[in-house]
Amino acid sequence: MNRYVEKRDRLIAEFLANGSPVGLAKDTSNLFRDRTQSAQRKLDVRGFNQVLAVDPVAGWIEAEGMTTFADLVEAGLARGVMPAVVPQLKSITLGGAAAGVGIEATSFKQGLVHHTLLELDVLVGDGRVLTCTPDNAQSDLFFGFPNSYGSLGYALRLKQKTLPVKPYVRVEHRHHASIAACFDDLARQCEGDADFVDGVVFGPDELVISVGRFADHAPYTSDYHYERIYYRSLRTRNEDWLTTRDYLWRWDTDWFWCSKNVGAQNPILRRLYGRKRLNSVTYTRIMRWNSRHGLSRKLNRLLGWHTESVIQDVDIPLEQAPPFLDFLLRQVGVLPIWLCPLRAKDARFSLYPLRAGQLYVNFGFWDTVKSRSPRPPGYLNRQIEAKVIELGGIKSLYSDSYFEPETFWRLYNGPAYQALKAKYDPNGRFRDLYAKCVLKA
Ligand SMILES: Cc1cc2nc3c(=O)[nH]c(=O)nc-3n(C[C@H](O)[C@H](O)[C@H](O)COP(=O)(O)OP(=O)(O)OC[C@H]3O[C@@H](n4cnc5c(N)ncnc54)[C@H](O)[C@@H]3O)c2cc1C
Repeated sequence: MNRYVEKRDRLIAEFLANGSPVGLAKDTSNLFRDRTQSAQRKLDVRGFNQVLAVDPVAGWIEAEGMTTFADLVEAGLARGVMPAVVPQLKSITLGGAAAGVGIEATSFKQGLVHHTLLELDVLVGDGRVLTCTPDNAQSDLFFGFPNSYGSLGYALRLKQKTLPVKPYVRVEHRHHASIAACFDDLARQCEGDADFVDGVVFGPDELVISVGRFADHAPYTSDYHYERIYYRSLRTRNEDWLTTRDYLWRWDTDWFWCSKNVGAQNPILRRLYGRKRLNSVTYTRIMRWNSRHGLSRKLNRLLGWHTESVIQDVDIPLEQAPPFLDFLLRQVGVLPIWLCPLRAKDARFSLYPLRAGQLYVNFGFWDTVKSRSPRPPGYLNRQIEAKVIELGGIKSLYSDSYFEPETFWRLYNGPAYQALKAKYDPNGRFRDLYAKCVLKA
């Protein structure tokens, strides 16, 4: 903790050194929108990457804001617990998932990452570092920080709830041949004794719900770190056994299925990548290099393709999930699609409004859509935004957005945001949420 205090005080001094707008200097990012200008001064927060304490009895883990979930999980498992929600890409950080909304297969019981927070320290616009809890003088910032994307301040220390674990997870893959049967079963499994629930849509008549339960013993364990590919196993298996660590990182080795975009599912290239490089950090680096140099863009242009990047996670009320999936399959056509149920117990999180107790389904889809004819910018992404609004859902903002300001502030609680911005960053040391998430500034 002393080291944290030293680092914190040094950062405050660096922050107050001059009054210009700042950004974050980080080694990794899981944002998926190419930002236009990155000229503003960067605050070097890379050193805030330590786990500070784990209390399995009280049920919490405390860590600095840029601690990756890979490190959080290791610290937790060493004490027989896991963070209550662990987003499945190893480089996602606790602060980033709190500021940018994080979800995983425990979310049907635990809500999103921010619903499992107990406390956080936030560096705000005038250089103070404020401790925020649900019931102290900074409770408005505690409930206003999630989905702020660093526009209200930076989380330097956070305390997250933990769950006790067992060494293994038995995964049951439940196969469905219709959309209706799939979502009926998803709702049923979320009311049962599962520890983990998520799913994958491979097509309108091939949908799989995966239900995980902790276990003390396992007849065998599967390894999806090298030759075998996890998402493919869902199509052929009814059951599987993984160590709890491997279950938590089951999607990272192939970035769900996005490793295909960098050739990592080709058996020969996969061997060239090797065990160590088969992970989301490698793929993100390749994707960023490619988008900087526009290699695939130029190649597609040469081949007469017009492309649109459709990389989104959206949350839809369960009752509206079948029509939303039908729309995605007919209008967008990106497959596979990740399904993850979530239920929030607390509706006080002002910038990412969810109805308390309502079961939502997160739809995650990440790909490039090609067409022979040119289309206006955001052609499909705008339709997705309109459908999400029509069905009473909400979209996470880590990727491209095209909302008009009025629509954006209606969806993400403009009045609450403006009040928080005026109170905690009146001089605009941090860029505005709309500017960051829609205008890509
Ligand atoms: C293919 C893909 C799949 C994804 N799937 C999921 C998913 O299934 N589940 C899920 O949870 N998320 C998912 N994400 C989204 C990801 O979790 C969010 O983008 C998250 O915000 C990234 O966290 P990060 O630590 O990498 O932060 P970054 O990407 O570095 O930052 C995200 C935003 O938060 C701000 N920020 C970062 N750290 C802090 C801090 N300490 N204090 C204040 N602001 C901060 C940054 O300024 C930035 O605006 C996915 C992303 C991709 C690309």
